[in-house]
Amino acid sequence: MTTVFIISAPSGSGKSTLVKRVLAGEPGLVFSVSYTTRPPRGTEVGGENYQYIGWDEFEQRIQDGEFLEWALVFGNYYGTHVSVWERAKAEGKDLLLDIDVQGAQQLKEKIPDAVTIFVLPPSREILEQRLRARGEDAEPVIQQRLAEAAVEIGNYQSYDYVVVNDEVEQAAATLKSILRAERVRRGRMADRIRPILATFENRGQATRSPNSQEDS
Ligand code: ADP
Ligand code: 5GP
Repeated sequence: MTTVFIISAPSGSGKSTLVKRVLAGEPGLVFSVSYTTRPPRGTEVGGENYQYIGWDEFEQRIQDGEFLEWALVFGNYYGTHVSVWERAKAEGKDLLLDIDVQGAQQLKEKIPDAVTIFVLPPSREILEQRLRARGEDAEPVIQQRLAEAAVEIGNYQSYDYVVVNDEVEQAAATLKSILRAERVRRGRMADRIRPILATFENRGQATRSPNSQEDS
């Protein structure tokens, strides 16, 4: 059974940093590589960070119904391809998505038991410092991202969990705890429970028999 984990956060909160750490120790968890019209940044690699495509191709794929969800974020298209979800299910792996609040809402409608996690920076000042430290955005873009963050942060209320990315190791450990706890929810344990119960079935009947020696 595939459990879907959706992580959203204002840009610069440290979501990619945390996602990388969580994936490193979890072979049963795969990252959903999205499609985008945004050009690659810095050391980003096509097929690993995103599938980079043009506007016409993205719009054609929308028309063809290829996306599980898609949204316009900071003036570019971003979308989750249906094959990502199909592959995770076929491989019996859990799926981790780093998508914005619009995408998270769309996905939650299609996959109601998806687990949603919102990552918050400790403060606006620290968010600003992190955006600058990343060194990837020009000043107007940083200002735009800060303004967007103020709006995005209000969406934390529709998420199941909120993780404050103060100290990175601690925040990553909290995320891993969420993943572990969600994976053992009773509803997700049916495939594990069935064979265990089967080992008890015959013996269970014998001990409950009124004439059995064990009862006397
Ligand atoms: P996002 O994916 O949310 O846009 P990044 O993961 O790119 O954010 O992080 C933005 C910047 O902040 C990066 O330079 C990253 O190294 C730094 N960073 C992330 N988490 C922390 C943290 N807990 N403490 C200090 N710096 C952090
Ligand atoms: P960035 O350009 O910084 O990598 O991402 C910008 C925003 O787009 C982030 O909030 C990220 O979560 C979001 N995003 C990335 N991929 C997807 C996607 O497939 N769908 C949606 N809806 N948002 C996405």
